Amino acid sequence: MNNSDIYLYNRKISKNADYTVWLAFPGIESFALSSLGFLWMFKSIDEQSNINVEMVCADTQKTKFKKDDVDLVGFSFTFDTDFLTIFAMLEKYSIPLKSEERDESFPLIFAGGPVVSANPVPYKDFFDFIVVGDGEDVNLNIVNLCKNNRTKSKREILELLAELEGVYVPSLGVRKVKKLTKKLENCIYTPIISENAFFKDTFIIEMSRGCANRCGFCLASYLNLPLRCADYNEIINVIETGLKYTNKIALLGAQISAHPHFDEIFDYIDKKIENGQKIEMSVSSLRVDAIKPQIVKTLVDAGQKNVTLAIEAGSERLRKIINKNLSEEQIFSAIDVAAQCGLKGVKFYGMLGLPQENDEDIKALISLASRIKHLYKGFDISFGFSSFVPKPNTPFQWLGRENSKTLEKKSEFIKKEMHKLGISAAVSSIKWDYWQAVLSRGDETFTEFLIDVYKLGGKLGAFKKAALKNNINSDFYAYENFGFDKDLPWDFIEIKPGKAFLETECNRLLSL
Ligand code: SF4
Repeated sequence: MNNSDIYLYNRKISKNADYTVWLAFPGIESFALSSLGFLWMFKSIDEQSNINVEMVCADTQKTKFKKDDVDLVGFSFTFDTDFLTIFAMLEKYSIPLKSEERDESFPLIFAGGPVVSANPVPYKDFFDFIVVGDGEDVNLNIVNLCKNNRTKSKREILELLAELEGVYVPSLGVRKVKKLTKKLENCIYTPIISENAFFKDTFIIEMSRGCANRCGFCLASYLNLPLRCADYNEIINVIETGLKYTNKIALLGAQISAHPHFDEIFDYIDKKIENGQKIEMSVSSLRVDAIKPQIVKTLVDAGQKNVTLAIEAGSERLRKIINKNLSEEQIFSAIDVAAQCGLKGVKFYGMLGLPQENDEDIKALISLASRIKHLYKGFDISFGFSSFVPKPNTPFQWLGRENSKTLEKKSEFIKKEMHKLGISAAVSSIKWDYWQAVLSRGDETFTEFLIDVYKLGGKLGAFKKAALKNNINSDFYAYENFGFDKDLPWDFIEIKPGKAFLETECNRLLSL
């Protein structure tokens, strides 16, 4: 952060503040400055006159950690492998990794974010407490509770914290924890505009949270049900605020096209562009049914050249099984509109190794790509793939993923066939996806394994060696089909619509 940063809120910097919170981001500062949820947390504490908050990132140089100077440390935990950077940051400041090794002289250390909300269990020994779900509303209560009870013992404070909805205190044993769900009428937006941000000078606006489509594998949907949309007038006001400082707007949300005023919001922006205002706008991937002429026109007017369409699977049969009910006709009509209304290309996103995927589905994918390529000559077509990872709290949480060997073969086959068609295709690392699955469905036996992964360097080989050393049968976590009657480590997290619904939905989808 530097002096040219623009704060869109009233900072209350008080020299007399006697309580200091570190908000820690397990990545470099430029990423933190483009991370909306993290910045919003920072803002909510920075607005308090009696609390000092410091942003601490993996590349923060100057901050020296003195136990007496820091009262509370909160980590954002967004990606499965964030634990590696979190450990590195703790070590950098000579803070023991395990909470039981941190005596009363150390600050309380907590985490929040999608990874620890879906399944906090593998990480339970590293944090004094974990915030499950949308933390924005409870964040300040937590900080104030800790501050107001600072003279009490850690144990006493943790007992008080455990009373708050959405707070999991591992040292107090397993008890039901209800996931926090934030109302979203008030729009969340970039509160600090910084030249150092990864998305430089970009004003991000969260239009909606969650996705009502409920694809069987999708954590973004299931962890964030129900779909919530920010109020239309709020969004318009926030767009106007952002445009005072920058001409780059990014609209965020897993399913922004489901916003009841989606078309009007785009019209509003397009009118401003038509009236001569220079606006660059980007959107997160759009659903195929959102590709309408007026929407594409706005995107093109706002400088967007390509659009990403998530089709997930190559055949209609498999798309049905994952609950992505999307016909070929809809896909082709979306490409038609995209091409006719001035976009230069479409990037398709898909997944390999989806439950019940067979050779016919892979052939259908190649055939689809080939037909698109031939019909839309000169249009820039590319594909990106990842491989299926079972995620806790989704209908497919019980399903093991496909063996890495056959997935590697599929990956090579697809890349080769796409290459023949002149289409660029990127596939995520099958090996990393395997370890992501292991971590996703991990349990309370993981503590030493995770520490060893970190100590051995955090690369693929380190995962393998650490698993062997700690008798972690990684194949079990990645490949095993769990029975519906199995107790799952994350069962104690209460997330609507609940386990019974997930089971019914899993059975329904797999029988299609
Ligand atoms: S449409 Fe996209 S965001 Fe929505 S549930 Fe499916 S994969 Fe998730």
